[in-house]
Amino acid sequence: MKTVRFLEKEVPHLIFGSLTMAPLQRNMSPDEGGDIIAYALEKGIRWIDTAQMYGSYPHVLKGISLSGLDRDELVISTKSAVKSYEDMNRAIDEAMEEMNLDYIDLFLLHAVRSMEDFREREGALSALIEAKSRGRIGAVGLSTHSTRSALLLAEDNRIDWYHLMFNIRGTGLTDGTLEEQILAIEKIKARGAGFYVMKPLGGGYLKSMAEEALKWVKDHRLVDAVALGMMSREEVDMNIDVFSNRPVSDEIKDRLGTVDKKLFVFNALCIGCGKCEETCEQSAIAVNIDKIAVVIPEKCILCGYCVPVCPKFALRII
Ligand code: SF4
Ligand code: SF4
Repeated sequence: MKTVRFLEKEVPHLIFGSLTMAPLQRNMSPDEGGDIIAYALEKGIRWIDTAQMYGSYPHVLKGISLSGLDRDELVISTKSAVKSYEDMNRAIDEAMEEMNLDYIDLFLLHAVRSMEDFREREGALSALIEAKSRGRIGAVGLSTHSTRSALLLAEDNRIDWYHLMFNIRGTGLTDGTLEEQILAIEKIKARGAGFYVMKPLGGGYLKSMAEEALKWVKDHRLVDAVALGMMSREEVDMNIDVFSNRPVSDEIKDRLGTVDKKLFVFNALCIGCGKCEETCEQSAIAVNIDKIAVVIPEKCILCGYCVPVCPKFALRII
């Protein structure tokens, strides 16, 4: 498998994404999730990606402790969507405490929606820069679903790593084309910053062509590393096979290609408050005339970000 250099560490470029197992999606217990993370670590994966919002710190903690690996063998990236200096410092403390880490390799501003949103996060960004200077974090990052923001922020020297949506079909891009996304990544790479991929399978929509989609992204000239959600040992095995250029058995492809999730609205619980609609950057959910939230499946990338904002627990990815 190809490797990626992250500061002084050299690790495989397949990243374990912990969103899909977390409460926002499959809602596995820390024991179940930790077992799969430990299995992935046993198979050679060394970078785990999480976020404050995912609720997967307990799963990561369990996985690392089961693996018995040394902290310095691992790269741990996490993110927070908080805006202020104080809240970001608290978010760093929380990540370190809940995952029992004495430093975080990469800490990102999570899901920056627009330039206006970015400007509102100056306090959070300065907390990350200060934490980097004190060795509490190794690098400062930014994740965004917005191509327009990626284009405008690609040359901001304060950002060391970017986490952007990137897949063979451009699935999930809302305010730009795949070509424009490539342009943003070219700018990032031209100044020597890092880029790791979000949604290489378009949030699950490309699962039926998983092998082709993963090969496209892993071999792409602009890609440093790829984060991929994994919820079973079979998924870990398949992803490692693809990333190691080994053939994937038809049996595994069939089994995994048919597993599909969707965002489900429990109509009886929905009060039509519209909070999910306000949160969704993909315009993939809207409150209808009967005051019920309705999902537009072809736009929904199953990020799960609307799930925790629902005051009635009416949303679930299943
Ligand atoms: S509807 Fe929810 S899960 Fe789907 S893209 Fe929007 S925020 Fe993400
Ligand atoms: S946030 Fe929940 S209650 Fe409000 S409209 Fe959306 S699904 Fe319904």
